[in-house]
Amino acid sequence: MDSYDDNNIFARIIRNEILSNNVYEDEEILAFHDNNPLAPVHILIIPKVAKIIGPSEISRSDASLMGKMVYVATELARKFGIDKTGFRLVMNNGSDAGQTVPHIHLHLLGGGTLSNIA
Ligand code: 5GP
Repeated sequence: MDSYDDNNIFARIIRNEILSNNVYEDEEILAFHDNNPLAPVHILIIPKVAKIIGPSEISRSDASLMGKMVYVATELARKFGIDKTGFRLVMNNGSDAGQTVPHIHLHLLGGGTLSNIA
Protein backbone atom coordinates (compact mmCIF):
# COMPACT_ATOMS: atom_id res chain seq x y z
CA MET A 1 0.00 0.00 0.00
CA ASP A 2 1.30 3.49 -0.86
CA SER A 3 2.07 5.80 2.04
CA TYR A 4 0.31 9.13 2.38
CA ASP A 5 1.97 11.91 0.33
CA ASP A 6 2.11 15.09 2.42
CA ASN A 7 2.55 17.12 -0.76
CA ASN A 8 -0.64 16.03 -2.51
CA ILE A 9 -2.79 18.91 -3.77
CA PHE A 10 -5.38 18.72 -1.00
CA ALA A 11 -2.73 18.59 1.74
CA ARG A 12 -1.30 21.77 0.21
CA ILE A 13 -4.77 23.36 0.11
CA ILE A 14 -5.21 22.53 3.82
CA ARG A 15 -1.87 24.24 4.55
CA ASN A 16 -2.98 27.29 2.49
CA GLU A 17 -0.13 26.73 0.02
CA ILE A 18 -2.68 26.54 -2.81
CA LEU A 19 -5.71 28.81 -2.96
CA SER A 20 -9.17 27.28 -2.70
CA ASN A 21 -12.65 28.72 -2.82
CA ASN A 22 -13.83 27.51 0.59
CA VAL A 23 -17.48 27.09 1.52
CA TYR A 24 -17.13 25.40 4.93
CA GLU A 25 -14.39 24.88 7.51
CA ASP A 26 -14.14 23.60 11.05
CA GLU A 27 -11.34 21.96 13.03
CA GLU A 28 -11.80 18.62 11.23
CA ILE A 29 -13.24 19.34 7.80
CA LEU A 30 -12.69 21.70 4.86
CA ALA A 31 -15.04 22.06 1.88
CA PHE A 32 -14.33 24.03 -1.29
CA HIS A 33 -15.48 24.36 -4.88
CA ASP A 34 -13.92 21.90 -7.33
CA ASN A 35 -11.79 23.89 -9.78
CA ASN A 36 -12.92 21.73 -12.71
CA PRO A 37 -16.64 21.36 -11.94
CA LEU A 38 -18.56 18.47 -13.50
CA ALA A 39 -21.95 19.91 -12.42
CA PRO A 40 -23.31 23.39 -11.64
CA VAL A 41 -22.62 22.65 -7.97
CA HIS A 42 -19.45 20.61 -7.43
CA ILE A 43 -17.96 20.83 -3.96
CA LEU A 44 -15.25 18.70 -2.37
CA ILE A 45 -15.42 17.80 1.32
CA ILE A 46 -12.14 16.65 2.87
CA PRO A 47 -10.75 15.83 6.32
CA LYS A 48 -8.11 18.34 7.47
CA VAL A 49 -6.08 16.30 9.95
CA ALA A 50 -6.65 12.64 9.09
CA LYS A 51 -4.09 11.36 6.57
CA ILE A 52 -6.26 8.92 4.65
CA ILE A 53 -5.55 8.26 0.96
CA GLY A 54 -8.94 6.84 0.06
CA PRO A 55 -11.97 4.87 1.26
CA SER A 56 -10.09 1.54 1.21
CA GLU A 57 -7.92 2.86 4.07
CA ILE A 58 -10.76 3.80 6.40
CA SER A 59 -10.76 2.03 9.74
CA ARG A 60 -13.46 1.73 12.43
CA SER A 61 -12.05 4.75 14.24
CA ASP A 62 -12.70 6.94 11.16
CA ALA A 63 -16.42 6.16 11.09
CA SER A 64 -17.60 9.30 12.90
CA LEU A 65 -15.38 11.54 10.75
CA MET A 66 -16.76 9.94 7.58
CA GLY A 67 -20.29 10.42 8.89
CA LYS A 68 -19.53 14.05 9.63
CA MET A 69 -18.27 14.53 6.06
CA VAL A 70 -21.60 13.20 4.75
CA TYR A 71 -23.48 15.43 7.18
CA VAL A 72 -21.50 18.53 6.08
CA ALA A 73 -22.21 17.60 2.45
CA THR A 74 -25.95 17.48 3.08
CA GLU A 75 -25.81 20.81 4.93
CA LEU A 76 -24.00 22.29 1.91
CA ALA A 77 -26.63 20.78 -0.40
CA ARG A 78 -29.21 22.77 1.57
CA LYS A 79 -27.04 25.91 1.53
CA PHE A 80 -26.60 25.72 -2.25
CA GLY A 81 -30.29 24.98 -2.83
CA ILE A 82 -29.94 21.50 -4.34
CA ASP A 83 -31.39 19.48 -1.47
CA LYS A 84 -34.87 19.40 -3.03
CA THR A 85 -33.85 18.97 -6.68
CA GLY A 86 -31.37 16.20 -5.93
CA PHE A 87 -27.66 15.67 -5.57
CA ARG A 88 -25.04 12.93 -5.65
CA LEU A 89 -22.29 12.12 -3.17
CA VAL A 90 -19.28 10.31 -4.65
CA MET A 91 -16.05 8.97 -3.15
CA ASN A 92 -13.65 7.62 -5.74
CA ASN A 93 -11.17 4.95 -4.66
CA GLY A 94 -8.14 4.09 -6.76
CA SER A 95 -7.38 4.09 -10.45
CA ASP A 96 -10.39 2.17 -11.80
CA ALA A 97 -12.64 4.76 -10.15
CA GLY A 98 -10.56 7.61 -11.57
CA GLN A 99 -9.27 8.91 -8.24
CA THR A 100 -6.65 11.54 -9.06
CA VAL A 101 -5.91 13.13 -5.67
CA PRO A 102 -4.56 10.74 -2.97
CA HIS A 103 -6.31 12.42 -0.02
CA ILE A 104 -9.77 11.08 0.75
CA HIS A 105 -12.55 13.38 -0.48
CA LEU A 106 -16.29 13.40 -0.92
CA HIS A 107 -17.75 15.00 -4.05
CA LEU A 108 -21.07 16.84 -3.74
CA LEU A 109 -22.62 17.19 -7.21
CA GLY A 110 -25.90 18.73 -8.25
CA GLY A 111 -27.72 21.67 -9.75
CA GLY A 112 -28.71 19.82 -12.93
CA THR A 113 -29.45 16.33 -14.21
CA LEU A 114 -26.41 14.14 -13.59
CA SER A 115 -25.29 11.41 -15.98
CA ASN A 116 -26.48 7.97 -15.04
CA ILE A 117 -23.34 6.30 -13.72
CA ALA A 118 -24.64 4.92 -10.42
P1 5GP B 1 -10.96 12.52 -7.84
O1 5GP B 1 -10.97 12.29 -9.32
O2 5GP B 1 -9.61 12.25 -7.22
O3 5GP B 1 -12.08 11.80 -7.13
O4 5GP B 1 -11.30 14.04 -7.64
C1 5GP B 1 -10.34 15.03 -7.49
C2 5GP B 1 -11.01 16.34 -7.79
O5 5GP B 1 -10.17 17.38 -7.35
C3 5GP B 1 -11.28 16.58 -9.27
O6 5GP B 1 -12.67 16.76 -9.48
C4 5GP B 1 -10.48 17.83 -9.60
O7 5GP B 1 -11.13 18.69 -10.49
C5 5GP B 1 -10.27 18.46 -8.24
N1 5GP B 1 -9.06 19.22 -8.11
C6 5GP B 1 -7.80 18.84 -8.48
N2 5GP B 1 -6.91 19.79 -8.17
C7 5GP B 1 -7.61 20.80 -7.60
C8 5GP B 1 -7.21 22.08 -7.08
O8 5GP B 1 -6.05 22.47 -7.05
N3 5GP B 1 -8.22 22.85 -6.57
C9 5GP B 1 -9.52 22.45 -6.55
N4 5GP B 1 -10.41 23.29 -6.02
N5 5GP B 1 -9.92 21.26 -7.03
C10 5GP B 1 -8.97 20.45 -7.56
